[in-house]
Order: sequence, then structure tokens, then C-alpha cells
Amino acid sequence: SMKNKDLLRSKAFVDGKWTDAHSGKTYDIKNPADDSVITSVPDMDEEDVKEAIEIADREFPKWSSMLAKDRSEILDKWYRLLMDNQEDLAVLMTMEMGKPLKESMGEVAYGASFIQWFSEEAKRVYGDVVPNHAQGKRIVVIKQPVGVTGIITPWNFPLAMITRKVGPALAAGCTVVIKPAQDTPLSALAAAYLAQKAGLPPGVLNIVTSNSASEIGKELTTNKLVKKISFTGSTKVGKMLMEQSASTVKKISLELGGNAPFVVFEDADIEAAAEGAIACKFRNAGQTCVCANRILVHDKVYDQFVEKFSEKVKKLKVGNGLDSGVDIGPLINDSAVEKVSELVEDALQKGAKLVVGSNKPEGRFFDPMVLTDVNDEMEMFSKEIFGPVAPVYRFSSDEEAIELSNKTKFGLASYFYSRDIGRIWKVAESLQYGMVGINEGLISTEVAPFGGVKESGMGREGSKYGIDEYLNIKYMLMGG
Ligand code: NAP
Repeated sequence: SMKNKDLLRSKAFVDGKWTDAHSGKTYDIKNPADDSVITSVPDMDEEDVKEAIEIADREFPKWSSMLAKDRSEILDKWYRLLMDNQEDLAVLMTMEMGKPLKESMGEVAYGASFIQWFSEEAKRVYGDVVPNHAQGKRIVVIKQPVGVTGIITPWNFPLAMITRKVGPALAAGCTVVIKPAQDTPLSALAAAYLAQKAGLPPGVLNIVTSNSASEIGKELTTNKLVKKISFTGSTKVGKMLMEQSASTVKKISLELGGNAPFVVFEDADIEAAAEGAIACKFRNAGQTCVCANRILVHDKVYDQFVEKFSEKVKKLKVGNGLDSGVDIGPLINDSAVEKVSELVEDALQKGAKLVVGSNKPEGRFFDPMVLTDVNDEMEMFSKEIFGPVAPVYRFSSDEEAIELSNKTKFGLASYFYSRDIGRIWKVAESLQYGMVGINEGLISTEVAPFGGVKESGMGREGSKYGIDEYLNIKYMLMGG
């Protein structure tokens, strides 16, 4: 049901050309809802990515010396084309990834917003003049693009994870080589097709499709021509890429896993908290890095919250993301289904109660679950669930809520509900997280800095801070 069939691409995109792998190998892209084959794409290897890096390096001097205003205009045009094709891009996204169509529509708008935002920021890369430290000297600080940037992204937001990096990189004047997730390269390729239509010069943005991530990752992280690595994905792979990048001391941005607490204090608006928890927990079938992973509720309002929340969970409709009215689609693949099932099984064996839903998936579809009587000894307390499962923990003091919230190696998003202004400040400052939603379950926007602390990564995406990840500071001292 795509109007513009040209958006479905079956080749990689290198040097402005639609390209096969040198080896001629391809692999299939399947719809996770029913395993139907959508198309196939090149299965590229080290040789292919090396070539893409050399092309990006060749184009860097031209792209980075172009007037910021001209780069800005191309990005703005690209943003408009993404929005003009919102419906088609959403259908493509649901086909390759499974999320409900309304969420895909939202992601296209969200993803495109980063291209718009950074088309504006491109013109605002200011330097400084620093008051001199000695007579006759002048100090000037300028910012320059880092250079060729290697980008590796996950499957859960097939478009937005790419635009959040590509927007600031291109705005800053960097050229890029992207390896999208092997399951979801089609949104990335469609976006590249529109970037080309917007007038992006050949070789500035290159997409290498492959199902041998480690081979591509190794080349991107060790090739001397690559000056920056920007990665979103698991903490395990992030650590590995960081280690590999050490050999050439690349600048790095990492957006890694999360283990978000969602805390409901006794003075919270329980209805609002239950509503917020639904949005925060079940978006993308629970497969987001900022999803509520642990819902912590004060003893006094525990039963009331569980009741209201459960009522709402029961109303969520499960099905193929392309069907209307669906709230929860399939999980991305069989191993994801297995992982979620095991975490729930572990909790049930340790005494948790399943009050809504079922741990018996139909294919890759789960009925959303609510678990009570959970505790911090269960595996799901410390691991990312990445599925439609909501464990509700109990606490009885602010101190305990904060301690439980911070009892994790992760530090990405956190949320809490309270009406007490003193408590709000204290808790917000005590949470060891990069982001805090206060009386809000959804926090992502292009205007605010997104990112984590601890083992959730480093660097920020979006906002006025996001472009700094792609810039180096140069200080010039001028004598008399
Ligand atoms: P993943 O396994 O780390 O994969 C992410 C990307 O890394 C994919 O492109 C993958 O390629 C690639 N990759 C895998 N092994 C690699 C290797 N050895 N060398 C180089 N690249 C490699 O993560 P995932 O399970 O797909 O994604 C979910 C994770 O992403 C969760 O932990 C989630 O929290 C995190 N996430 C974080 C954010 C954030 O902003 N902090 C946003 C979204 C998701 P293949 O697809 O080919 O395996």
C-alpha cells in the first residue's frame, strides 16, 4: 500500500549510487509479523565498507567547506521530503519492524524533526573570542567538523536512530558511513533516496547493508580515515566498539541500554500515573531503551495503582501493526520472544504473580503482562525486558524509592509522579540518570538533550548540545 514504490530500495547506497556487494551476496528482509519476504539487500563485507569510508573521506573537504547556509538548505529540503512521504515511510517501517502504523507515523515525524532542527543549528556553530591572558596576544576558539563518521544503529527505531546522528553530523560538515541494523535497513535506504532527491551530493551519506555486523563494525572502528563513531544499541556491543575505537583514539558517542524506573509516590495523581505508565511501558511493544522497566509504587497506593493500570493494560489491542486500532505489534524476532519469556518465567518461579496477560506467546505476539509481588532478586530487576511486561514493585519511603531506582548499572531515562514540590526537586536531583520525566511518561523530543550516564553511554543527541558531538574545538593563540 505504498504510493511511491521508489521508496522501497533493494540496494545499498554508496557514492550516490545504488550498489551491490562486491561479492554479489544478498540477504532477505522479512516482516516480523508473518515472516513474508519484503525484499533482499546486499550483504556487504569489509571490502565494501572500506570503499565507502574512502569515498566519505574524499568528499569531506568539499562538504565541510560548503557554506553552512547551503548545507542547511539541503537538510531542510530533506526534512520536507521525509514529511511529504510520511505515510509511505510509515508503512515501510511497520513492514520491516512490526510496530503499529500509528507509531510508525509518529516515528517518521520524530525522526524528520532532527533533520529540521539540525538544518537550523547548522548555521549556529559559533566560536569564541577569549579575553587575552597577556599583552599583545589574542585568543580565538573555533569549532570544526570531526571528519568521517561511522554510524551503527539498532532495529527498534529504524529511522529516528539514524536521523538523530545524521542530522547533526551533516549539519556540522561531517560525511557519514552508516550500518543500519540488519533486520531494518529499508527505512534508512528510503531516507537516503529522499536525501539524494533533496540535493545531497554523492558520497556525503553512504549506507552499507550487511548481516555481518562485527566485520563492518571492526572496519569502521579501526580504519584511520574514520574520526568518529556514533553508536546506538546494547551496552555489550557499545563496550566492544569503544574498545576497538581505542586503537585509533576516535571520538565516540554511545546511546546504550536502559533500565528505567517509573516511580509513583503516595501523593501522585494515580490516574495520570497509570496513563503515563501505559505510554511509557508499552510503546513499541516495550522495545525501547527508555521504556519503564521497573514500576515502583508506594505501599499506600499500590493496590489502587495496580487496579487502574491493569484495567488500561487489558484494553490494549495486540495484532499486526498494519491493522487499524492495533496498540501492540510482534516482537522483532524469535530470540527476543524467548528472552522475554525467560525473564517472566524466572520472576514467576521466584514468587511473582501474573495479574494480567499471558506468558504464552502466539508466534511473536504477547498479550501484555502485569506482574505483582516482584522484587530486586528477580532477573528482570536488573535486565532490560524489551517486551510488553510491566513488573510493579513496592516501596515505603522516599529513600527506598531512590535507592531502588539507582540500584542498576544503567542510567538512561527515569520517571516519577508526585505533586510535592520539595520531593520533586530532591528526587529529580538524586536520580542517577541522564533524563528525568516528572509527571510525564514520554520525554523524547528533538529540542532536548537525549542521553545517558553510567553504562547507558556518553554524549547527547538532539538539542543545542547534539551538534557538539560532531565538532572539534580548536584554539588559536595569536601573538603580536
Ligand atoms: P545490538 O545488538 O547492540 O545492535 C545494535 C547495532 O549494532 C545493530 O546495527 C547491530 O547489527 C550492531 N552490532 C551487533 N553486533 C556488533 C558488533 N560485534 N560490531 C559492530 N556492530 C554490531 O542492540 P539491539 O539488541 O539490536 O538493540 C537494542 C538495544 O539498543 C537495547 O539495549 C536498547 O536499550 C538500545 N537502544 C538504546 C537507545 C539509546 O538511545 N540509548 C535507543 C534505542 C535502543 P545487527 O543488526 O546486524 O546485529
